[in-house]
Amino acid sequence: MRKMGILSLVFLVLPLTAFTPSGTSSLDTSHVVKIDASTREERTEITSLGVAIEEIHDTYIVGICHSNQLKDLKAKGFVFETTSTPAFLLDFPPGDGAFHNLQELESEMKALVQAHSNLATISSIGKSVEGRDLWMVRISGTQTKEGEKAGILFLGTHHAREHLSTEVPFFLMKHLLEKYGKDEKITRLVNEREIWIIPLVNPDGTDYDITDKPYKWWRKNRQGGGAQSIYGVDLNRNYGYKWGGQGAGSDPSSETYRGTSAFSEPETQAVKAFIDTHPNITTLLSYHTFSELILYPWGYTYDSIEDQQAFKVHETMAQAMGRMTGYKPQQSSDLYITSGDTTDWSFGEHKIISFTFELYPASIWDGGFYPPASVIEGVTKNNIPPALYLIEYADNPYRVITTGQPRDFLTVSDIWPPKPQ
Ligand SMILES: [Zn+2]
Repeated sequence: MRKMGILSLVFLVLPLTAFTPSGTSSLDTSHVVKIDASTREERTEITSLGVAIEEIHDTYIVGICHSNQLKDLKAKGFVFETTSTPAFLLDFPPGDGAFHNLQELESEMKALVQAHSNLATISSIGKSVEGRDLWMVRISGTQTKEGEKAGILFLGTHHAREHLSTEVPFFLMKHLLEKYGKDEKITRLVNEREIWIIPLVNPDGTDYDITDKPYKWWRKNRQGGGAQSIYGVDLNRNYGYKWGGQGAGSDPSSETYRGTSAFSEPETQAVKAFIDTHPNITTLLSYHTFSELILYPWGYTYDSIEDQQAFKVHETMAQAMGRMTGYKPQQSSDLYITSGDTTDWSFGEHKIISFTFELYPASIWDGGFYPPASVIEGVTKNNIPPALYLIEYADNPYRVITTGQPRDFLTVSDIWPPKPQ
């Protein structure tokens, strides 16, 4: 509850009006809303109404929604208040140029692959609603065919405004390629695994979010047709395992709108098709921001994974990665129920050991979706050890429970700063 004092003060002194970024679609403005809620059941009801919960405290949550959801909250008897957003939260701070926009990301990935063509290839796994490529980089140290080695998939930015969740997988890609041949452990891991990185699952939403200022706090994709009718689908509620349950919005205006059917969106269809055709993927990590959490299935039910061994692998790995990053490990539904998310599907359908990271910061008041560019370096480096840990165990993640102790336990100080070669 370390933020309680600051947060209470902010809500007390600011006028209770929603902020109104210009350039939003026909969905009216976004509201930052503080809602009294102290149980996971209450939080599940809130998220089912279509509020994107971004921060959880003992007695309340902080979320983002549109006016329709405020009406629904009122009708359901929730006690809440909306607030103006401090100016620093309306925009990337000065120096935001260090974040990658679509063009920069694409050209830097292509340059990186070209510079390391013995290790990496780039391809598009499909197109977005607006026809943009969904770029993926494959990294593997020896010239083998796809599917011959144990595989691991890293995914970034299902939610448009979560910009650090692009930077982290992009930095991972860069780190693996640039350290190959210089760092013994990375050389070994890259040689022994097939590593896929898709740093930006939602290019349309991201482009929309950062085109023109102030930025728009856009979460979903850009589904919906003409410019005036775009509603967007929450790509992390559109996957097909237990799709349509609690914890996703059925109203297109909601922040957590699940879409018209499971896998209704080209972006989730592309990820599905890729995973369906690569049975050597044993492990998956999907990056989001923020809250500093490490989450594992299930999201759709409060019950734990039924297979005790699989549950134990998730729990053990999440705890180990929590020690590396300082993030809090827990089952996703301990926060609230979500249905249709990536990791429920990848585990539920394919038994892939699957995690969601909610990256920096811990609180919306520490920068939320638009933290200063000065944090990129620290956050990306902090997330290298858990990524290497997952790559290490991707040959058989169940080793973490059979050997008792994680092998080659990594910490930031093990790998950073790099030792002179
Ligand atoms: Zn997210």
